[in-house]
Amino acid sequence: MVLVINCGSSSLKYELFEGDRSVCSGLAERVGVDGGEHAVLTHEYGDEATARVSAPMPDHTVAFDYVVEVLTDPEHGQIRSLQEIEAVGHRVVHGGEQFTESVLIDDEVIAAIEDFCELAPLHNPPNLEGIRACRQRLPDVPMVAVFDTAFHQTMPAHAFVYGLPYRMYQKHRIRRYGFHGTSHRYVAIEAAQYLQAKGIPLERQKIVTCHLGNGASVTAICGGRSVDCSLGFTPLEGLLMGTRSGDLDPAVPLHLIRAMDMDAVEVDRLLNTESGLLGISGVSSDMRDVVQAAEDGNTRAQLAVDIFCYRVRKYIGAYAAAMGGLDAVVFTAGIGENAPEIRRDCVRGLEFIGLRLDEASNNSVGDDREVAVISAANSPGYILVIPTDEELMIARDTARVVADIAE
Ligand code: ADP
Repeated sequence: MVLVINCGSSSLKYELFEGDRSVCSGLAERVGVDGGEHAVLTHEYGDEATARVSAPMPDHTVAFDYVVEVLTDPEHGQIRSLQEIEAVGHRVVHGGEQFTESVLIDDEVIAAIEDFCELAPLHNPPNLEGIRACRQRLPDVPMVAVFDTAFHQTMPAHAFVYGLPYRMYQKHRIRRYGFHGTSHRYVAIEAAQYLQAKGIPLERQKIVTCHLGNGASVTAICGGRSVDCSLGFTPLEGLLMGTRSGDLDPAVPLHLIRAMDMDAVEVDRLLNTESGLLGISGVSSDMRDVVQAAEDGNTRAQLAVDIFCYRVRKYIGAYAAAMGGLDAVVFTAGIGENAPEIRRDCVRGLEFIGLRLDEASNNSVGDDREVAVISAANSPGYILVIPTDEELMIARDTARVVADIAE
């Protein structure tokens, strides 16, 4: 079995796989917050929460000990001993330019992930903590790092270099990296299989994938390779997000500093946690709440929804131009999979680039894990809804990397 671990600053998510089948999963929350006094671990087997552990979890190592405990619990657990875990896959946010695909974790890989902490100060450190905790407890089990940035390493220089002095890229590594790569890759593979079955060979396929969740991004994928992504140096660029501003004139932060006397910490907080859907609507960062408020007549909530969809439309158009065509648009993640009214608005007026929505199909996308086609039968381009599964992608990569090495 393969254990997938995804550590955030105060959380540890895990999922156990047997092949492609998810065996069980869980989440430890509030790890290390106020010393981890109020941490809770919820373990799910089938669709039910079968165990809930409330215990102090001062760090990820302690949280991982509780994960091990619930996994091997004689009553609720799904494995008898840790020896059943053949490999562990770790989500790592930043792999810089070094990692273009998933790799077996060794001391050198750990040192490189450490080096990229400077580029992803909020994400790589907790990812590393997860790796270290697992290494301590499972010293002989092979571990694989799956990077959010790796899929986008195929972007050409004209897409990833900013209009700054070139030394900023060469010396200081300031460039566009793109994120959400594991999700974009997962749905792109599913979409590619679908299009291939429709007679469009992989090497000719031009796809735009829209990952619309709390964080949101659009990726242009040509022949199965990412050629552009709306997220850049950090996951702040591009679309409007739950609490992040997305695209912004770079002079705005300068104005905040100079004219409004804000410091870097305050500007960071404003752009990352107080902006986006939340900042514009004043209601919530959660799209469901914002849509509800808009329906109830809140004009700022409506404006937030309009800006969100407008940006997605702009990026789809831009990427169709960048690729010189478009065979399919894919919607995924919380909003992309569940909000028909948002999907409709994101492709509104895009008939001129071959995207014609079928309203009835769009309104009746179900909960199954299949590819749902929501474009009209006479639409030149396909519009697809594909549920993402980053954990499954990590599990597959982990099994493949470990098998390759065993050969
Ligand atoms: P994360 O980026 O945290 O993984 P998700 O992919 O779970 O986020 O997406 C969360 C977003 O999806 C929230 O804004 C939530 O409101 C939105 N969402 C989920 N279901 C719906 C729905 N039925 N209609 C509109 N938005 C939805």
